[in-house]
Amino acid sequence: MLRVENVTQSFGGIVANKDISFQIVENSIVGLIGPNGAGKSTLFNVISAIYKPTKGKIMFNGKRIDGLPPYRIATLGISRTFQNLQVFRNMSVIENVMVGYHTNSKTGMIQSALRLPRVLKEEEDVYTKCLQFVKFVGLENDIEILAGNLPLGKLRLLELARALAVKPKLLLLDEIAAGLNHNETKKMSGLIKSIKDKGITVLVVEHDMDLVMGICDSIIVLNQGEKIAEGTPYEIQQDEAVIKAYLGEEVKESVAN
Ligand code: ADP
Ligand code: MG
Repeated sequence: MLRVENVTQSFGGIVANKDISFQIVENSIVGLIGPNGAGKSTLFNVISAIYKPTKGKIMFNGKRIDGLPPYRIATLGISRTFQNLQVFRNMSVIENVMVGYHTNSKTGMIQSALRLPRVLKEEEDVYTKCLQFVKFVGLENDIEILAGNLPLGKLRLLELARALAVKPKLLLLDEIAAGLNHNETKKMSGLIKSIKDKGITVLVVEHDMDLVMGICDSIIVLNQGEKIAEGTPYEIQQDEAVIKAYLGEEVKESVAN
């Protein structure tokens, strides 16, 4: 479904991604892990066309997508969430999800904001459809709440609902469980599995190893911009280079806490 071929992304002297190649097969959950600064978010930005890679190419369902304008990426069926959350804080939960929907619909945001008559019926349908995504993530009691008034756990759920409203074939989740407590993280794991069951392929960046090891079919490990390993959760947990670069650190942290 997705093929990343020899992608390098440099910012001046910093090489955030170095000659990275991998493939993602349809209907799988793939984990992307590595220490802070490893280049995970940069890779998401390259795949979602926020950056055009310095070198290499990206194929999605047989079509070359690197360098396309970002809105085209959404239309082709890729959507994402952001590590630092990109919800509209002065808009309600349902309005935020409707923005996601419009990213990939005939009626643009501007037309619908102008409330052209022929658009009104369409907006009603959009509202009903978006309600399904709100319910799916469990925010049905917060439909009219302003996003700015939501706690972090619900904001992450809102980002997820908005990304789903784009109706992606491939969903990129950047640290979707960061800052969540144990129960919220477990709920998020369950949601990601049901997203896969809906036929959506997921690429997830996460530091929570219970989540990653519990739901991923395969895992890619980055360190200092390079891919250092790829395999099943079991293979990754045994991998010497991964333990040295990353998992060892996690173990040390959990002993220290
Ligand atoms: P991760 O998500 O794995 O923590 P990032 O992809 O955010 O890592 O960052 C990888 C490296 O690239 C870091 O050294 C970061 O400072 C650098 N970097 C990321 N984005 C930019 C940018 N827009 N300009 C300059 N440097 C950047
Ligand atoms: Mg990051």
